[in-house]
Amino acid sequence: MQSPSVVDFLYTPSHPLNTKNLNKRVILDMIRFSTNGVSRADLARQMDLTRAAITTIVNDLIEADLVRETETDLDTASSGGRRPIHLEINPQHSKILGVDMAVTHLSLLLADFSAHVISDVELPFDIKNNPQECLQEVDRQARRLLERAGLTFQDIIAAAVAVPGPVVNSFGGVSAPPIMPGWDGIPIRDILSAQWNIPVVIGNDADFGALGEWAYGAGRGEQNLAYIKVGSGIGAGLLLDGHIYVGSTGCAGEIGHTTIQENGPVCSCGSQGCLEALAGGNAIAQRAKEAVRAGKRTLLSNISPSAGITARDVAEAARLGDLVAQQIITSAGSYLGIAIASLVNVFNPSLVVVGGGVAQVGDLLLNPVRQTVHERSLRPAAQALRISTAVLGRRSTGIGSVVQAINLALDQLTER
Ligand SMILES: [Zn+2]
Repeated sequence: MQSPSVVDFLYTPSHPLNTKNLNKRVILDMIRFSTNGVSRADLARQMDLTRAAITTIVNDLIEADLVRETETDLDTASSGGRRPIHLEINPQHSKILGVDMAVTHLSLLLADFSAHVISDVELPFDIKNNPQECLQEVDRQARRLLERAGLTFQDIIAAAVAVPGPVVNSFGGVSAPPIMPGWDGIPIRDILSAQWNIPVVIGNDADFGALGEWAYGAGRGEQNLAYIKVGSGIGAGLLLDGHIYVGSTGCAGEIGHTTIQENGPVCSCGSQGCLEALAGGNAIAQRAKEAVRAGKRTLLSNISPSAGITARDVAEAARLGDLVAQQIITSAGSYLGIAIASLVNVFNPSLVVVGGGVAQVGDLLLNPVRQTVHERSLRPAAQALRISTAVLGRRSTGIGSVVQAINLALDQLTER
């Protein structure tokens, strides 16, 4: 039987699971990610196991406080007045911390065990600062978030941290991402795990975005999707045949560094004409500054030079109808479309989700993306494709972190 989950993508159990534990793990995922609830009969049917086998495993899970029964309001007439008993993850089992460490902001989410966010916070952040200082800030803000909820790290079973670069799992850090100077070789996972005394997993921000949108957003039920994170950097998370694909050294999906213009602007990676140098948040802000300097009529000229124009300002001005800002966003959308068309021709996904800060402007960015992808990708690939904004908005990566931290906790709980 093929596992319906993406649990194996960043974490390998320390020893092979026996069949019963593997079935437990699969059942837990079927319960977690079902949209309309799942009964013991559904599980027996979908897993091709006997009711007795399912009952034994489910009883174990209920005894371990991982799963609980719930009565549904659905279908009471056809079942003769008896409400079908569905199974759900016990949200009170334990708490989860998800962290999205982005280039210019830091988001922390405190969630229950069914991935519902209890409270969250987003703050300005500069990943180009000294890594030790950045990790101290993450630690400080995490403790503050827990304290506000009356909790400590003893209440947290696992945490996941998203970073904007290729992740090397052997040491739990990043490998030379151009946008994170100074972070090469820093064991982020082990530093935080030691400070918090809990298991921590780290992952790429676009991969976690894909996971979040697949689990609870625009990509539910999809087997082949790409999540494109458009922020200061641009990255893609690839879910292929139901599994997150990270490549041989974690660099899969670094779409921001594909060449769009042979002799285009210099990119943070040292190359020229990369997608990121044309359509990333910094490039968008740069184009806006040039327009103001050239004396164009735009709302952006009201922003004081000391505050500095950001991509978010450009998106906001575009939403308010500012033509100069709209033109900058449209041109970024066309560049994105060129790169996404190539990705569509290579991977043939059924869904591309565009997320990240810049994507919050919606169709102003998405329409030129759709048009360019339509023009430049093969017809059978384009016909099978939907391009949508992230349902989870700015939180795709943060929710994906929560999902992956729960994956880690469940892997460890079912290994015992
Ligand atoms: Zn580049």
